[in-house]
Amino acid sequence: MPRGLTPRQPSRSGRHDKVAQSPQRTKGRTAKAAPILKKVAKVAAPIAASKAAPKKPAGKPAAASRKGYNPLAPERVNEILNRLDQRYPGATCALHHNSAWELLVATILSAQCTDVRVNMVTPVLFQKYPTVEAFAALEPEELEPDIRSTGFFRNKSKSVVGAARKLLSDFGGQVPRTMDELLQIPGVARKTANVVLGTWFKIADGVVVDTHVQRITRRLELTKNEDPQKIEQDLMKVIPRNKWIVFAHQIILHGRALCIARKPKCADCPLENLCHAADKTWSTVEIHKSAKP
Ligand code: SF4
Repeated sequence: MPRGLTPRQPSRSGRHDKVAQSPQRTKGRTAKAAPILKKVAKVAAPIAASKAAPKKPAGKPAAASRKGYNPLAPERVNEILNRLDQRYPGATCALHHNSAWELLVATILSAQCTDVRVNMVTPVLFQKYPTVEAFAALEPEELEPDIRSTGFFRNKSKSVVGAARKLLSDFGGQVPRTMDELLQIPGVARKTANVVLGTWFKIADGVVVDTHVQRITRRLELTKNEDPQKIEQDLMKVIPRNKWIVFAHQIILHGRALCIARKPKCADCPLENLCHAADKTWSTVEIHKSAKP
């Protein structure tokens, strides 16, 4: 097209649209159209802005969308806790027991073993040896056949018999109710002590960190640590103390039901849109490479 013949585009201001119309007609129409135009402008502005925005590089988490993201923000942590409450109301320890001593023994036996297996072994065990004294009178080798199916039975036998003897010698035959005392018992580390304190005595002295808690709290970016003791310290800082006991039980249930080690069932997970785990199987939110078990 020759130069100068290019049809003029209407100006953005609409100034030229009015040229051919009578001033009165235009005035009336403009007045009528004003509210509609206002609405259109409201809707169109963000769309135009988003179109104008530079595209994010494909495949990389956008720095902009992570800016200001704090996985430990109280609002986020509270939302996680609320959703766990809804999904796992009344969560508690799955190990069957009738006393602090039975719970202590069951927890020692549960290392590297399922609670289901332990619950099959303990009823027979406590019928055969009904008191702390009965266990203390045994040699570890005598106990081994009764707990063989829980695995690591030699070490566990030593721990259980040693624990019974320690209770009789130092604690009047009773399971103590402080962390310091519990840690003096053979076979008892912080995890076992926290289970007994929290579940039996309802004392929140720490957070139980087992393999599920370790894996899931890392996926949820509540900790970056791998060492259970450091993870526990991190969790104690971000989770309110009145939630320490139930939180661990809920996470353990979650780890068994949905957030399993391999192929977590993210599409069914109530925490899905709060979770940026690197090994998610389905996601509606961006993935954080560092959020891994
Ligand atoms: S979304 Fe997936 S990885 Fe994240 S907590 Fe749920 S099940 Fe686990």
